[in-house]
Amino acid sequence: MSDLEIKTESRIFPPPADFVASAAISGMGAYNALCAEAAADYEGFWAKLAREHLHWHKPFTKTLDESEAPLYKWFDDGLLNVSYNCLDVNLQKGLGDKVAVIFEADGGDVTKVTYKELHAKVCQFANGLRSLGVKKSDRVVIYMPMSVEGVVAMQACARIGATHSVVFGGFSAKSLQERIVDVGATLVITADEQVRGGKHLPLKSIVDEALALGDCEKVSKVVVYKRTGGNAPFNPARDLWMHELVANQATECEPEWVNADHPLFILYTSGSTGKPKGVQHSSGGYLLWAMLTMKWTFDIKPNDVFWCTADIGWVTGHTYITYGPLAMGTTEIVFEGIPTYPNAGRFWDMIQKHKATIFYTAPTAIRSLIKAADGDASIHPNKYDLTSLRLLGSVGEPINPEAWMWYYRNIGGEKCPIVDTFWQTETGGHMITPLPGATPLVPGSCTLPLPGIMAAIVDETGADLPNGQGGILVVKRPWPSMIRNIWGDTERFKKSYFPEELGGKTYLAGDGAIRNKDTGYFTITGRIDDVLNVSGHRMGTMEIESALVANPMVAEAAVVGKPDDTTGEAICAFVVLKRSRPTGEEAKQIALELRNWVAKEIGPIAKPKEIRFGDNLPKTRSGKIMRRLLRVLAKGEEITQDISTLENPAILEQLKQAQ
Ligand code: ATP
Ligand code: MG
Repeated sequence: MSDLEIKTESRIFPPPADFVASAAISGMGAYNALCAEAAADYEGFWAKLAREHLHWHKPFTKTLDESEAPLYKWFDDGLLNVSYNCLDVNLQKGLGDKVAVIFEADGGDVTKVTYKELHAKVCQFANGLRSLGVKKSDRVVIYMPMSVEGVVAMQACARIGATHSVVFGGFSAKSLQERIVDVGATLVITADEQVRGGKHLPLKSIVDEALALGDCEKVSKVVVYKRTGGNAPFNPARDLWMHELVANQATECEPEWVNADHPLFILYTSGSTGKPKGVQHSSGGYLLWAMLTMKWTFDIKPNDVFWCTADIGWVTGHTYITYGPLAMGTTEIVFEGIPTYPNAGRFWDMIQKHKATIFYTAPTAIRSLIKAADGDASIHPNKYDLTSLRLLGSVGEPINPEAWMWYYRNIGGEKCPIVDTFWQTETGGHMITPLPGATPLVPGSCTLPLPGIMAAIVDETGADLPNGQGGILVVKRPWPSMIRNIWGDTERFKKSYFPEELGGKTYLAGDGAIRNKDTGYFTITGRIDDVLNVSGHRMGTMEIESALVANPMVAEAAVVGKPDDTTGEAICAFVVLKRSRPTGEEAKQIALELRNWVAKEIGPIAKPKEIRFGDNLPKTRSGKIMRRLLRVLAKGEEITQDISTLENPAILEQLKQAQ
């Protein structure tokens, strides 16, 4: 959100000819035509897509119900089942013997599961859950490692109409308990242990600890997937082994037909900006968008080997592992481990081994792998054959132009488009993103909204802002995969996402953005809360961070404001260097160099007043920088906020000290 002249990115990458030739949306003409279609008849546009892409047990008659806005309903009198759409439909299409999941374990073992096998596993587990009395609308908490069984558990819940809430396996007993209580779960599915980076880490004992923290009386059963056979507490009165539960179950299971707006899942946001919110998603509208974005953004084709590196504990793992790829009949990779084990070449090794064609990961992973490759030539991506790749994706945070260029050159071999997909837990799927067969790419920009997504930039009163002027990112019309509610807290839902100041019907994303004067391309400038105001100049954190990361010494940077008597707000930068953390005189010297660097890159006004060096930055468990904590540290205050999703609390101590 800058009123300064934004540094103009001059590198433009047109879509490769082979993409244009075969893409679902081929060329900007086709993109514009779809946008025009949506603008001309919004409901008709979505109704047609929903009829074409989903299997309806009973067709819907009403597309969009706005009578209780912002509690919108989509296709709601239609009946369908998400698991049926992901599995049975593919069997009917003759894809039974096609590999659905290539699972690679932490230690490197590979298991392949066909659509037919996956269907049988899901049906058996769904029958098992039914035999335990789990029924439509019950909430089931899933606290599992990345595994075929994790995907099966989610699909099995969908099959019987139970609403799942996946909690990332890195969360503590306390965070798990809070989520179990908040969703009112009656059953928990977990594993004895998980394996990450060669280490066995407990899951089941953490579930026991969580349940013992209280208020979990509703949980009557805990189903345990035996991953390692290691030591895990087991209470026969309450706990069951997953393999025993499914042993004698039929491999067919009649799906529960649910209304389109039936809650498929509740998922807590990452907690970058505050206490996590239990985002409630629908069945029909959600799945429709998962499929359409697989088709439009990833240009998915029958021969693709798709790899999304997210965890099923995050929304990216829901939409682009458990639901989207399967609904499209795709072969996908599911990876149990971490990118740095046995070394930081693991991702590249797996792309080579499985001949992945589409690779979708997060900027935080890219930045850390750049640092690793710089330090160890033996695991540099140029040591691997990555020629199977045809498309790359990025998600989770803005990707700095320099990281984008590294990804483009070193992973994509300068031939793969990068789709920088802007979206949120709340949006269910991509919102603003390039289309690989249409959009000319500009590093650092998520480019243009997908057809049907009415994204805009407005000021605090909701008035439209012209291109070139930074403001608040909003979506002006409801869309099928949008959040339906915050579980159990409609008031917070309305206040957070549809504030009165914007009229109560406009979706507030919480991010700042700016559109390019010439192209209209969107660039996300940072969270609304993170906008800086230095001597009356409004600046996004992203711009300054990208300038810092463009310096060859810098691996990562986060910028926040702190109150300043003369300038109103002063810029405080937290910087991780590619080399070890400097201290004393050396730190002062490098800080001076970096300040001058930013002054040269953006302008003297953007010069950080203070620079602190760390070994790392405070991050959420999904790898996002938690600037809200850095703001407190910059002010020199004690942290009293919610830090339940903070991955590395120890780093706070190091960053407390001004250098
Ligand atoms: P919380 O809502 O609890 O603060 P969170 O917003 O980090 O957590 P998510 O829903 O996982 O939780 O993340 C969505 C946010 O991630 C977006 O609002 C945006 O700030 C950022 N984001 C995701 N993808 C991109 C992208 N491609 N470019 C820029 N920012 C992105
Ligand atoms: Mg958010």
